[in-house]
Amino acid sequence: MNSKEYIDLAEESLMHTYNRYPIVWDRGEGVYLYDLEGKKYLDFAAGIAVFALGYGNQEYNNAVHAQVDKIIHVSNYYYTVPMAEAAEKLVKASGMDKVFFTNSGTESVEGAIKLAKRYYYDKTGSAAGEIIAMDHSFHGRSTGALAVTGTKKYREPFGPLMPGISFAEYNNLDSVKSLVSDRTCAVILEPVQGEGGIYPAKKEFLEGIRKICSEKDIVLIFDEIQCGMGRTGDMFAYQGYGILPDVMTCAKALGCGVPVGAFAARGKFADVFVPGDHGTTYGGNPLATAAVSAVFDIFEKEKVLENVREVSAYLWDTLETLAEKHKDQIADHRGKGLMQGLEFYEPAGKIIVRAQAEGLILISAGTNIVRFVPPLIIKKEHVDEMAEKLERCLE
Ligand SMILES: *Cc1c(COP(=O)(O)O)cnc(C)c1O
Repeated sequence: MNSKEYIDLAEESLMHTYNRYPIVWDRGEGVYLYDLEGKKYLDFAAGIAVFALGYGNQEYNNAVHAQVDKIIHVSNYYYTVPMAEAAEKLVKASGMDKVFFTNSGTESVEGAIKLAKRYYYDKTGSAAGEIIAMDHSFHGRSTGALAVTGTKKYREPFGPLMPGISFAEYNNLDSVKSLVSDRTCAVILEPVQGEGGIYPAKKEFLEGIRKICSEKDIVLIFDEIQCGMGRTGDMFAYQGYGILPDVMTCAKALGCGVPVGAFAARGKFADVFVPGDHGTTYGGNPLATAAVSAVFDIFEKEKVLENVREVSAYLWDTLETLAEKHKDQIADHRGKGLMQGLEFYEPAGKIIVRAQAEGLILISAGTNIVRFVPPLIIKKEHVDEMAEKLERCLE
């Protein structure tokens, strides 16, 4: 069967929740993807900021293969070696004290929200804790994570969602201050907003929120699902700001393709949950945590953070030049590390489709923003190759 036939087959039986691009992927190699017909594409999307190590990393593949042959799943009634090792590595890398493994980003956000509500309940004896979230935020599609997601059109058809949520303007501390009350149990935000349009937080904004939360004993949750795991040049974006949250969420590149997420907490927030408060059948299973463990090892061995710092500066300069040259089409360039965006005057979809014809994979954020979230192992030559292809799309 060819791509067209597989696409028809898929559309017959899959719910139409995505307007998918007409490409059927066959395999990946380093920073390149190949479709079923053998066409080669440079990948600047990494499966939505997931495949940080590139495709076919031998050490990663070996770790996952070996775990498949040993045991894939046993449930959380027991301990496993990968679970213990991955937890220790994540705690060390994040500056948190305790971690809970989940199966996705959304579930990590759910867990973090429950932790904040539990803390407020223990403290006040009341289940009336409210949460401040941000405009343009994205935290997931379950009814809890959706309730704190800042895009109204995602939320509206699915109400009534979790009550007690208010939205502040991102990077506007006064807007947050005006929403804080005695019932506020948590503030949740992404240090660099992803889906909402690649908006990095200002340092003073995060510092101001950290101060309010510490003074009023409010749980500060940083959603590091997209901006974490080295994407900004620090293991977690908050480390680049020198600010620690009370609870952090993580997923996407955490398992580099094996579906796994986590939320972690520090200090008094690390021991809020007691047995029975929270659980998951798959979360932290040996296959997922063997992948997590390998990812942390490879990040260190291959100096992934150093590479991000070096190549992201080059990507920044390259996109600045491009934005300057095509001022008539490009309104803004922003981002941090290997998480950058170009805002166009027209919908990003047009550029993305043109790029595909040129053999370049890009994704959007918001409607007009083209998002650059390549594998973290890309080199300057790949940035040059990307710029050449993108240039042809703009002409
Ligand atoms: C992708 C994303 C999520 C949701 O993660 P899933 O794995 O799709 O459930 C939550 N928050 C942020 C910041 C994300 O980028």
